[in-house]
Amino acid sequence: MRIASVKAYAVKIPPAETGSGGGSEEIESYGDYTIAANAWMSIYSRNHETCLVRLETDTGLVGWGEGQAPVAPRVTAAIVDELCAPLLLGRDPYDVEYLWYRLYSAMRERGHVTGFYVDALAAVDLALYDLLGKAAGKPAYKLLGGKFRPDVPVYAGMGGAEPAEAVAQAESLLTAGYRALKLHLRMPNAPLLAIVEAVRLAVGPEIELLVDVHGTRDVSGAIELGKGLEALGVRWLEAPCQPEDSRGQAEVARALSLQVATGEWLRTVWEWREWIAVRGFDVAMPDVARTGLSEGKRIAALCDSFNLPIAPHVGGGGILSVAATVHFSLAIPNFQIMEHSHDALAWKGSIAHSYPVPQEGRFAAPQEAGLGVEIDEAAVARFAV
Ligand SMILES: [Mg+2]
Repeated sequence: MRIASVKAYAVKIPPAETGSGGGSEEIESYGDYTIAANAWMSIYSRNHETCLVRLETDTGLVGWGEGQAPVAPRVTAAIVDELCAPLLLGRDPYDVEYLWYRLYSAMRERGHVTGFYVDALAAVDLALYDLLGKAAGKPAYKLLGGKFRPDVPVYAGMGGAEPAEAVAQAESLLTAGYRALKLHLRMPNAPLLAIVEAVRLAVGPEIELLVDVHGTRDVSGAIELGKGLEALGVRWLEAPCQPEDSRGQAEVARALSLQVATGEWLRTVWEWREWIAVRGFDVAMPDVARTGLSEGKRIAALCDSFNLPIAPHVGGGGILSVAATVHFSLAIPNFQIMEHSHDALAWKGSIAHSYPVPQEGRFAAPQEAGLGVEIDEAAVARFAV
């Protein structure tokens, strides 16, 4: 069996009517893209944007993968088509780990060791695991070494710029069956704590609460916030410091008893190694649509050797990213909990005939061969740009 064709698709799926978004927040507009005013660091699309990869073998098997591309997905697609495809054509898809390393090594001397380039490698790697699962007639987690647990618990992300808005979102997610919630908040500490307190009072002591502040704090502000969150029984504070500030965040992690979670921007063991060396976090959040499953397993093993749990990031990743994360979460010993966006799932799933859906806050182990997403090729063509 040899790889006979490699094709990347940059897709942009227009907004769904049902998405609740981040709440009543002031935003700056740049065409399709927005940046929330005041300290929200990242640029977002109004569309669901991502990069898909379709591999086909000389035996007619097809595998689909995804590299996260929340903005500018044509950049990732061009890397796959122009740089990855020539190295993949004619290769044996069972050489999956070798192929990730071969592609990674092709550009590392030039400093392309993260970002769009490694996202493209992740897209190829996920497509290879989908393909190999189909070749073996087994779900992808079997190819990753088997499952360490029967199913995958998730937390649901939510926003809410005011206490009443956040309470309403939390109550609707509890009604939908979730027992763990993550609040995306980045206002100053006092109003932030007022929102978390209102949600804690509304949901009761049993519901797990997590807070992501998206790198908006300095060390002292993060420690002050973390102590307030500890008093409200919050399990983790995510990304208190900026993505470059491993040493500052290590001070935060040492000062707090709640978990400091981090790392959606870190793609390889070499990047993770630096954060682990300073103990810059308590919970690692790799994203397999950025790392690939091959490198994701290496990151999980590295963290496990330092007694550090994994809570996989999904964020704006699409339906193949969600499915691949379920397989990854099943197949590592040090899994804690998986990220999930309840409101966005059907939107992301509009390029698929079928895909995994959580029930009562948990994904069952997929039974289908490969990643378990049946891609709707006509829909992909319709949304491709
Ligand atoms: Mg985050």
